[in-house]
Amino acid sequence: MSVPYKIEASEELLLGNQSQQPRASQKIPIIARPFVSERAQKTLDIVEKFVEEECIPADPIYAQQIGEGVATRFSAHPPILEDLKKRARELGLWNMFLPKNHFKEGAGFSNLEYGLMAEYLGKSHIASEATNCAAPDTGNMEVFAKYGTQVQKDRWLKPLLEGKIRSAFLMTEPDVASSDATNIGLRMHQEGNEWVLNGSKWWSSGAGDPRCQIYVVMGKSDPNNSNVYKQQSVMFVPADTPGITIKRMLSVYGFDDAPHGHGHIVFNDVRVPAENMCLGAGRGFEVIQGRLGPGRIHHAMRSIGAAEKALEYFLARMNDPKKKPFGKQLYEHGVMLERVARSRIEIDTARLSVLNAALMIDSKDAKFALKEIAEAKVLVPQVALDVIDRAVQAYGGAGVSQDTPLANMWAHGRTMKIVDGPDEVHLIQLGRNENKRGGWLLEKIEWQKKKGDEMAKAYGITRRDVLQLDREHAKAKL
Ligand SMILES: Cc1cc2nc3c(=O)[nH]c(=O)nc-3n(C[C@H](O)[C@H](O)[C@H](O)COP(=O)(O)OP(=O)(O)OC[C@H]3O[C@@H](n4cnc5c(N)ncnc54)[C@H](O)[C@@H]3O)c2cc1C
Repeated sequence: MSVPYKIEASEELLLGNQSQQPRASQKIPIIARPFVSERAQKTLDIVEKFVEEECIPADPIYAQQIGEGVATRFSAHPPILEDLKKRARELGLWNMFLPKNHFKEGAGFSNLEYGLMAEYLGKSHIASEATNCAAPDTGNMEVFAKYGTQVQKDRWLKPLLEGKIRSAFLMTEPDVASSDATNIGLRMHQEGNEWVLNGSKWWSSGAGDPRCQIYVVMGKSDPNNSNVYKQQSVMFVPADTPGITIKRMLSVYGFDDAPHGHGHIVFNDVRVPAENMCLGAGRGFEVIQGRLGPGRIHHAMRSIGAAEKALEYFLARMNDPKKKPFGKQLYEHGVMLERVARSRIEIDTARLSVLNAALMIDSKDAKFALKEIAEAKVLVPQVALDVIDRAVQAYGGAGVSQDTPLANMWAHGRTMKIVDGPDEVHLIQLGRNENKRGGWLLEKIEWQKKKGDEMAKAYGITRRDVLQLDREHAKAKL
């Protein structure tokens, strides 16, 4: 049974000052401010209020409403979530993730503006879903909006935008190294007006949710194509198609992430109508590349929010009068203050990196911002993990237990170094691109030395090392 959940609707609650603390809009980094509209600032403050006052207190209720036992947990649909969704819509907090310069279907914000909001959504387990801004639906909705036919949009994008159904993105496979997408091998072969799919997928996030009705599936449709980037296709596959079995759910450091979860799914002669092909056979790479850019920014900003929340927990613990190791409050132990300061510096720096990437996307598109997206993608999870880890340490045993959200946040944060391509892939790409100017830099430095020699000659100076000593030991007067 659900616990009745009533939310007061007063303007005062939503827009009033929070105990003298600056509001979200007042904390926007100064270099980002010129790019944030008044409407976005106002919405940001409402997001903050909604998350702090309605979603975070609801997190444990949601967890309890999921219930116990694998069958129950993966068929649960916690009622508190529907109440929060209703509330979010009343407040105008819905589909903020679809950027205004690329899609007409969203709430009309830029990537930068939504990025600022995503930070607050990242402080609660359920706020993203409550505002219809949760992965993997966000990326999948972008795929439908960008590449879908009108029929595909009517059938799946519309209910997704309304938050009536959910979706999953099925790329990763258990039998191949999936960080290299050319390895993706789920077989797709055409028979008349249908494609037949055989193979298996895992880490299909969201597939456990009973409302998950559509899978965006990558497979190999043309294994003999000499261009390895043309061998794969992406198809829209209804989750209830005969031949699909969710074999089991995977855990993340022991957490099952129910009800969405992460499915291990087997495809056995799954027949899909040819019109469910996305964009066209052989164009799978185009689709997945178009999907991932902004999603990485969303993940990164939510991780910044998680880091902020961990720091809040850290500060609360330092000031808890019941906890005084060796007769002093934690804030009286210098090492703790240093950890707080480091956390502040790292979060603020990482946030700027994400906002910079979001601005680059806004200024053109995700392809234009590849470097900045990769920088944020690698930097932010490490920062978030370090900050969460410091907070865990400050709580001692409680930090690793279920008594704070920190253990769950750390487990989730750790996956960010793997999901959407592991760190190494982004680092290698960044390193390679950076190294492209290595040859030119070698030439530049040689040229500068030569020019220095010529200048020395012009000034009548004989070039010599300033520390040149030329001391012969036998002649040295000591
Ligand atoms: C919580 C969670 C949710 C996920 N959700 C989804 C989802 O919804 N849909 C989906 O399709 N997938 C999802 N994934 C899967 C994720 O995207 C993959 O795990 C990731 O892309 C890595 O692929 P892999 O697991 O096959 O590892 P592999 O490709 O086998 O890589 C293993 C390791 O090899 C190393 N490595 C890889 N490439 C290089 C390189 N070039 N240089 C040096 N080292 C390298 C890295 O350390 C890497 O972690 C999810 C994963 C997790 C943990």
